[in-house]
Amino acid sequence: MRKKIIAGNWKMNMTPSEAVNLVNLLKDGCENALCDVVFCVPFVDIAAVTKEFEGCKNIAVGAQNMHFENNGAYTGEVSADMLKELGVKYVILGHSERREYFGETDHMVNKKMKQALKRGLIPIVCVGESLEMKDEGITIDHIAIQIKRAFKKIDADDAKKVIIAYEPIWAIGTGRTASAYQAEEVCAGIRAIINDIYGDETAEAIRIQYGGSMNAENCESLLAMPDIDGGLIGGASLKADFNLITGCVKE
Ligand code: PEP
Repeated sequence: MRKKIIAGNWKMNMTPSEAVNLVNLLKDGCENALCDVVFCVPFVDIAAVTKEFEGCKNIAVGAQNMHFENNGAYTGEVSADMLKELGVKYVILGHSERREYFGETDHMVNKKMKQALKRGLIPIVCVGESLEMKDEGITIDHIAIQIKRAFKKIDADDAKKVIIAYEPIWAIGTGRTASAYQAEEVCAGIRAIINDIYGDETAEAIRIQYGGSMNAENCESLLAMPDIDGGLIGGASLKADFNLITGCVKE
């Protein structure tokens, strides 16, 4: 039985003091949730947010990116060890906004995946198709390439730890959610791709989230699907609604 995992992606929102206010609004609800809850916050908020969640068993803090090297002349970058020392447990890798605006490639995502796993961080690796790809009917072909490249030279034991977030680009921040059936079809397809690469045990163990305008109204039907093990939530993670989403996980 895979434990559901709901992660908020705050993107470039919330100063440290705003972050503390938001966390205090959400903390009690998240502590009572029957799932793992992750707050993926801006780097500058990590210390303050981690402190607020001290002692909360099912709540963890995540970063939204990291560099694939552990130190060196990479001005403006942050390493896995830096994140670990601050108490970070998860890191989002390959978000479509990083791919689109910061030129992140599948090859870079693979290097970051390997580095995160080596240093003890759990990657939340994002995959998903554009609207053009969806209309062309090549969604699963595109995602298969993204996954094969992201998991290149990662063994099954490490692969099992990874969270895959299926995020159709056309659904991110648009208010246009994939229907529960559309999302389930692709998440089941992703599990089949993992099965092809690693076999049944890894495919059954790995957790797959849906992300893309998930909110308090649509979360129940999405999270009821057998291959959807949680959500990666952008806009709705910045308000009290986030607790309606974590609270809708029943097991
Ligand atoms: C995201 O950015 O990962 C995301 C899913 O955003 P939103 O929920 O706002 O669509």
